[in-house]
Amino acid sequence: MAEIAHERSVLARSLWAATANAAAERPPLRGSVEANVAVIGGGYTGLSAALHLAEAGRSVVLLEAEQPGWGASGRNGGQVNPGLKADPDEIEARFGPDLGPRMVAMSGGCGDLVFDLIARHGIACDAARVGWIRAATTPRAMRALHDVGRQWQARGAAVEPLDATETAQLLGTRAYVGGLIDRRGGNLHPLNYALGLAVAAERQGARLHGGSRATGISATADAVTVTTAEGQVTAGKALICTNAYTGPLAAPLGRTVVPVTSVQVATEPLGDNLGSTILPGGHSPSDTRRLLLYFRKDAQGRFIMGGRGATREASIRACQAALRAASERLYPQLQGAEWTFAWGGDVALTSDHLPGLHRLSPRVMAGLGYNGRGVGMATAMGKVLAEWAQDCPEVELDFAVTPARPIPLHRFRRAGLGVTAAAFGVLDRLGL
Ligand SMILES: Cc1cc2nc3c(=O)[nH]c(=O)nc-3n(C[C@H](O)[C@H](O)[C@H](O)COP(=O)(O)OP(=O)(O)OC[C@H]3O[C@@H](n4cnc5c(N)ncnc54)[C@H](O)[C@@H]3O)c2cc1C
Repeated sequence: MAEIAHERSVLARSLWAATANAAAERPPLRGSVEANVAVIGGGYTGLSAALHLAEAGRSVVLLEAEQPGWGASGRNGGQVNPGLKADPDEIEARFGPDLGPRMVAMSGGCGDLVFDLIARHGIACDAARVGWIRAATTPRAMRALHDVGRQWQARGAAVEPLDATETAQLLGTRAYVGGLIDRRGGNLHPLNYALGLAVAAERQGARLHGGSRATGISATADAVTVTTAEGQVTAGKALICTNAYTGPLAAPLGRTVVPVTSVQVATEPLGDNLGSTILPGGHSPSDTRRLLLYFRKDAQGRFIMGGRGATREASIRACQAALRAASERLYPQLQGAEWTFAWGGDVALTSDHLPGLHRLSPRVMAGLGYNGRGVGMATAMGKVLAEWAQDCPEVELDFAVTPARPIPLHRFRRAGLGVTAAAFGVLDRLGL
């Protein structure tokens, strides 16, 4: 079975790697090259930026430490979930009457962007625009979902509440008290989407390099130079698109987010009789627990369950076992199913739950921190980064440019999250 290269085995047995479309290995950058824009990172953010820039006729060199789609973009749940974690009213109150509505439109429209790119570039990634269901575990959570639904409806979005019966019919389980369906969303094969973006960017003229970790960024008044082990790119602008895998590059950027491992497990194909009893409409719900569960089937009818993970190997295994158990509680008919896949990757959390768009110097901009909701948002952020690299004034971008502020006591945050997660788990079990 194909596994994720250069990853701990406990996180490497990915369904998506095992079912990926054939992809060419992109060679490392060797020697000195020039481009209008250097893009660092080959996930959705970087690939979308490269594609939009190449489509606009700019020369682009993209540097990826491993291969395109190696990070979260090739490992996630494939749920296309429109909007930010914060509700539209909150975003507009915080960012004002001009930028606020533009941020809401950009984030709410990220599903349109994803499905449009897939259609326009003929990306084979099992895209299904069936809507995104949020399933409520408590009446209080349901009231909050109704409120979110009303806010989106006021802005003309196709978002509707579901009662308990409708939710049970769509999910095939009576575990939830109701839900909200956002018809702008859907699901896809995440790695094949990333690989398709890479091919589309290359067709438009972008040059993509794998095995090319950026190790340094230096700028003069006229240009910025990005260095790798064997080469360098000199460009007018550089975009950093490394999300939870940023590490020490361009400090303090990596300390503006807390990387957290999210894990998933998947069965063998269930077969039609069993498969038709679970998520019969092909939806990909996530629930309202603090430690949320997200689940779906793939195009071949494998059941997939995901949730927040841990850092140590033993606790990652325990999380994966807990996800299998949670699946069987939701769907007792899964007992005895063969669980072939178990994998994970890092999401980037921010302290205000908003992604960050940070200008680090006159020629360098970064976009990251999607808080586990990046299939749509990272694609949309890549487009915004591409607009900035084409000299769009910052005030005209559809997302706020903010300073890159390191999270206080960053070193302790990842460990602290383990304690918070345990507390959240208790509150979830109590239904609070
Ligand atoms: C298990 C899991 C499940 C998820 N489920 C969902 C979901 O269902 N729906 C959803 O919307 N979101 C989901 N997410 C989040 C989503 O996957 C991410 O938000 C999104 O993929 C981020 O894209 P990105 O391009 O910014 O980062 P990534 O895809 O992580 O890409 C960053 C890339 O940068 C490269 N890199 C790092 N440093 C360097 C360097 N110095 N030089 C060159 N390259 C470098 C890395 O190798 C990596 O490939 C999930 C994430 C995980 C891990």
